[in-house]
Amino acid sequence: MSTKRKRRLVIAGGVITAYAVGTVIAQRRGYRFGSSVPVRCRSGHLFSTIWIPGASVKSLRLGMWRVQWCPVGRHVTLVSLVKDADLTDAERAFVAGHHDVRVP
Ligand SMILES: [Zn+2]
Repeated sequence: MSTKRKRRLVIAGGVITAYAVGTVIAQRRGYRFGSSVPVRCRSGHLFSTIWIPGASVKSLRLGMWRVQWCPVGRHVTLVSLVKDADLTDAERAFVAGHHDVRVP
């Protein structure tokens, strides 16, 4: 195997490891991932979205932040993950009723 190819494999392995470790750390901190994850946009709008670590095509990843469409304010903005435990019952109900398009 050439040195160049080996280096590429090491980089790919590092990226996968970083995603895996980041996901475990986030889950330990109380964040959850899946098809209905509560998020808050920069304008304070709450809604739910699909958030699968390392498997998104419709948004730009920035760790716990990402750029995507906010269905509440109808704008493209920076959204961040919200811990389920940080939401009030009213907020949780609002989130359940506001989900963006079901395409990861
Ligand atoms: Zn918004």
